[in-house]
Amino acid sequence: MQNPSDPDAGYSGHKGQGYHAQVMESYCDSEDEQIKERTLNLITHVEVEPAHISDAHALIPALESTKERGLAPEEVLADSLYGSDENGEKARDMGVEIISPTMGTPNGEALNLSDFTQTENGKIAACPQGYAPVRFKQGKKNTCSVAFDSEGCNVCPLRERCPVKPGRKRHYLRFDLKTLRIAARRTREHTPEFKEKYRWRSGIESTFSGMDKQTGIKHLRVRGLDAVGYCARLKAIGVNLFRAARVKRVLDALKPVPGVVSAVICSIIADVKEHLLSPWHRLSDIFKSAIENMRYTVRSAV
Ligand code: SF4
Repeated sequence: MQNPSDPDAGYSGHKGQGYHAQVMESYCDSEDEQIKERTLNLITHVEVEPAHISDAHALIPALESTKERGLAPEEVLADSLYGSDENGEKARDMGVEIISPTMGTPNGEALNLSDFTQTENGKIAACPQGYAPVRFKQGKKNTCSVAFDSEGCNVCPLRERCPVKPGRKRHYLRFDLKTLRIAARRTREHTPEFKEKYRWRSGIESTFSGMDKQTGIKHLRVRGLDAVGYCARLKAIGVNLFRAARVKRVLDALKPVPGVVSAVICSIIADVKEHLLSPWHRLSDIFKSAIENMRYTVRSAV
């Protein structure tokens, strides 16, 4: 127990005592200031947990929650703690792509699966020395075996660093499909496309900073998980109201005012005011029409 007056509070060596909030929001991937200030980005999910709960378990419940409320994203930018292979597979089954770096760093000098060229359908096309395999075999329990001609491997300058092992007839590379998926992700992380897409994740940092400055979310005057969670959701609604009002001001200043968009934002503000006493359950209805087809980014709060 961290605090006798708040038995729900947890402890994390990184985050300290208390709680952390899992937050998901939509984002605009344009550098154009005019487009940015006219785009309504909203917080679509807030879940408060004791500080000791791992972030790795937060992603799938967040996706399920947004799906239930009709706000499911097609794509999520998440930091590496959320991007485990298990989460990626479950999210894929839900029709969501997770854009996240892989955990851990490959062993220095040694070559690994990500140094082998893969085909689009997840097979090995060539080894680091450029030799094509002579056989690819997928066995039971998602294991794979790729054979390379020993003639090339025996004289290869990379053989000390290469993960292939000599067998009776050939040299073999053995791995399972999970390792192959992680290797493919590791390779993709170095592409300009991944870097361009993933750089938008850092925007969530300013959301946390803004939530703290605008609403004081880090200094709540309540105790207990339920009360803290309730307050955090109210604060998120407050931030969404600020955002909606800001976009509305920009749109109102334009002549002629884009009637449809402006009307949607006005209706959001009116609905939030009306339903402030039961905020989160109404949130999906309120924001659903405004954020359909947007993409979201997710990470944990301190
Ligand atoms: S040891 Fe064999 S498989 Fe490994 S890089 Fe060299 S030729 Fe390719």
